[in-house]
Amino acid sequence: MSEKDQEFDTLDQKEKDETKEKNSDNSKEEEYEEYCFLCRRSESQCKSKLIHLPNNINICPECMQKTFDGFNHSPNVQFIDMNNFDMSQLNMLNSMPKSQRVKKKKKEESKPKKEFNIKDVPPPHEIKAKLDEYVIGQEYAKKVISVAVYNHYKRVATNTMDEIEIDKSNMLMIGPTGSGKTYLVKTLARLLDVPLAITDATSLTEAGYIGDDVESVVSKLLAAADNDVEKAERGIIFIDEIDKIAKKRNTNSRDVSGESVQQGLLKLLEGSEVEVPVGASNKNAMVPLERINTRNILFICGGAFPELETIIKERLTQQASIGFCADLKDKFDNEPNLISKVTVEDLREFGMIPEFIGRLPIIYTLDALNKDMLIQILKEPKNAILKQYQKLLALDEVDLRFDDSALEVIAEKALEKKTGARALRAIIEKFMLDIMYQIPKDDNIGRVTITREYLENRGAPIIEMRGTPALPSIN
Ligand code: ADP
Repeated sequence: MSEKDQEFDTLDQKEKDETKEKNSDNSKEEEYEEYCFLCRRSESQCKSKLIHLPNNINICPECMQKTFDGFNHSPNVQFIDMNNFDMSQLNMLNSMPKSQRVKKKKKEESKPKKEFNIKDVPPPHEIKAKLDEYVIGQEYAKKVISVAVYNHYKRVATNTMDEIEIDKSNMLMIGPTGSGKTYLVKTLARLLDVPLAITDATSLTEAGYIGDDVESVVSKLLAAADNDVEKAERGIIFIDEIDKIAKKRNTNSRDVSGESVQQGLLKLLEGSEVEVPVGASNKNAMVPLERINTRNILFICGGAFPELETIIKERLTQQASIGFCADLKDKFDNEPNLISKVTVEDLREFGMIPEFIGRLPIIYTLDALNKDMLIQILKEPKNAILKQYQKLLALDEVDLRFDDSALEVIAEKALEKKTGARALRAIIEKFMLDIMYQIPKDDNIGRVTITREYLENRGAPIIEMRGTPALPSIN
């Protein structure tokens, strides 16, 4: 083949690649709805066909009419000379990022009915068995959440059964920090393959004040569902730190981040149509809005409620001291898992308004993690931290082992930090740094065993070379 032929061949290939790219771009474009260039509403929101102008500019009839009306009523309108006007200039203004555009609703017949089919929702025992693979302990919480989620999706599936309306199973999860609240919800959403949005209640304020208004949580869910409205309407919203929006005590000013947020959340929890911005957390003129019904969205609220134990203790002591038992004042001081005795009255005393608690019918608690649970968390879940490190070192063909006594030290250190399982990773990262740095230096290292002595700075890890049972150390 001559040089020229080769040149033609490469040019041909280039052209083919370019058209391929263009085609795939076009097919991607087709997935999105067209929107009005002026009011930024999508075609379905405008409820009428858009008028197409050159350069991919579309205008809804309403805006077109308004523009003409404007011309007619303004005495000093300067008409654009359309003969000399370059339409390509408009095109520059027309670019709307994909994150702010809504995907077209799928046609009825091609709609995936998967989530609506009751047979696709796994029964509670299967959901719990799956959760068991990842979440250690918290048996009661796992059981409650499995049943509640099953019932919720049964409710979604039987949407048409109007005579007997099944109530929504929104949940309130109470448990100390690092006990697995977020982890439980994340695992659940992954298992069920539904979109999940996690928000922090502390960032929410009453609409009109600095901060996100409550509807921003729905707009996060829409983003998590890839801007697919139908998918978002069956998703899960987890609102963390819900205890931070308790009614503020002894305040004379307007409680914009406490009680007002609870009030604002009421209609979302119950199920209502909200108009949320697509691709942004704030409504502003340049962002399209989309209507979402929260009727089938499962809300899970979680919080540590640190002062709640005192309230429960006070109530129990009061109850116990009626009659002859006035000496029982500190009877409940050493009671483990006092939090599990929580009642709706305690939550009300804490500062949650009755209407809010009323919309979270399923209330349950998570246990504080003890030493044994922490050790289990280190080694047992499917993606346990130790397994992750072992896999990393296995890529260097090194066998990483941990002494049982070493695991105890890690768990003890984590307990001291009082941040639950969250402390585990930080502790391990710290001492694994040296190991991860040193091991790849020497190809002959075959096995490393982490010991209690090494973690307490009294010795070195046991290093075994390939083929020989020698025990030198790294330092
Ligand atoms: P919080 O209760 O404060 O929301 P998280 O769920 O964020 O705590 O927990 C932090 C991390 O600790 C999780 O990412 C997870 O790896 C680990 N973890 C916490 N509790 C458990 C548990 N019961 N089983 C397994 N891992 C857990």
